[in-house]
Amino acid sequence: MTSRLRIAVQKSGRLADRSLELISGAGLRVMKGANELLYRIENQPIDLLRVRDDDIPTFVADGVAELGIVGYNVLAEHFPEDDLEERIVMRLGFGKCTLKIAVPDTATYEGPQSLEGKRIATSYPNILGKWLKDKGVTATIVEMRGAVEVAPRMKIAHAICDLVSTGATLEANGMKAVDLVLASEAVLIKAPHAPPADLEHVYDMLLRRFDGVTASTGAKYVMLNAPREHLDEIIELIPGADSPTIMPLAHREDTVAVHAVCQENVFWDTLDKLKAAGASAILVLPIEKMMK
Ligand code: ATP
Ligand code: MG
Repeated sequence: MTSRLRIAVQKSGRLADRSLELISGAGLRVMKGANELLYRIENQPIDLLRVRDDDIPTFVADGVAELGIVGYNVLAEHFPEDDLEERIVMRLGFGKCTLKIAVPDTATYEGPQSLEGKRIATSYPNILGKWLKDKGVTATIVEMRGAVEVAPRMKIAHAICDLVSTGATLEANGMKAVDLVLASEAVLIKAPHAPPADLEHVYDMLLRRFDGVTASTGAKYVMLNAPREHLDEIIELIPGADSPTIMPLAHREDTVAVHAVCQENVFWDTLDKLKAAGASAILVLPIEKMMK
C-alpha cells in the first residue's frame, strides 16, 4: 500500500463546508465514499479524516493526521499559549468569531473586576481561566458543554464566556457582550513530525496551494488610468496594494496605467475616491488563482 497524507477536517458544523471549499479550491477532487470517516482524494495521495472539531488538535498532535483545519479557539483551549504558533501553518480567513464575556442586559459591567467572586459559565475553561488570571480576577468557572447562554437565566452563573458572531443568540437570551476574550478564525495546523519522505512533495504542494487560495479569497485585480501628477495619491487609495505596476499609455504623456493586486475587496466608496482623485477607466476584476 502506498502511503497517503491525512488532513483532519470537521465532519459537519460551521467549518465543514468552508474546509471542503478550501480543499477543492486547491484542486483536490473529493470522493465522497461509503466510508463516512475517511473521504479519499481522487487525484492526489491524500485522505480527509472527518471528525468532531474537538478531536482535531489531538489527532494532529499525535500524528494521526499530518494536517488539520480547526478553529483557533479550539486549538487554544487544548494547548498552552506559548505552544500555539508553532502548530499553526497558516490562518485561513474563514470561521471568524469572537469569544466574549456576556452578562444579562440588566447587569452592570465596569471591566473584568466586575467578575470578581462571580460564577462564569463556559465551554472554554482553559482560555477563560488564563484571561481571568491575566486580569487579576478570581472567579468560579462553571464548565458547560453547550447551551451556555441559558446559564444566567437558570441561575447557574452570573455571566458567560461564549462564542459570538452576530450577537443574535445573546440578544434572544436577554444578554449583552461586554468584553473580548479571544478573536478566532480557522487555522491550518500541522503534526510535530515531518511528513513521510515520499509524500513531502505532496505536502509542500498542498501548503503552497492553500496559501494561494487563502490569499486570493476576496483579492481583486485593479486597473486604472491615472494622471501622473496625482499618481502617489491614487496609489495610496488602492487598498492593500504594495507595489503596483505603472505603464505608459500610447500618445498620453500626462497619464499612466496602474495595475495592482489588492489583498482585500474594493468597495464602491473606494472607486468614488479614486475617481475624485483623477483616476479614470477603473476596472476591478476577481482573481481566481494566485501563487506568491
Ligand atoms: P463538532 O460537532 O465538530 O464538535 P461544534 O458544535 O463543536 O462541532 P460548530 O458550532 O460547528 O462546533 O463550530 C465550529 C467552529 O466554528 C467553532 O469552534 C468556531 O471556531 C467557528 N465559529 C464561527 N462562527 C461561530 C459562531 N457564531 N458560533 C460558534 N462557532 C463559530
Ligand atoms: Mg466541537
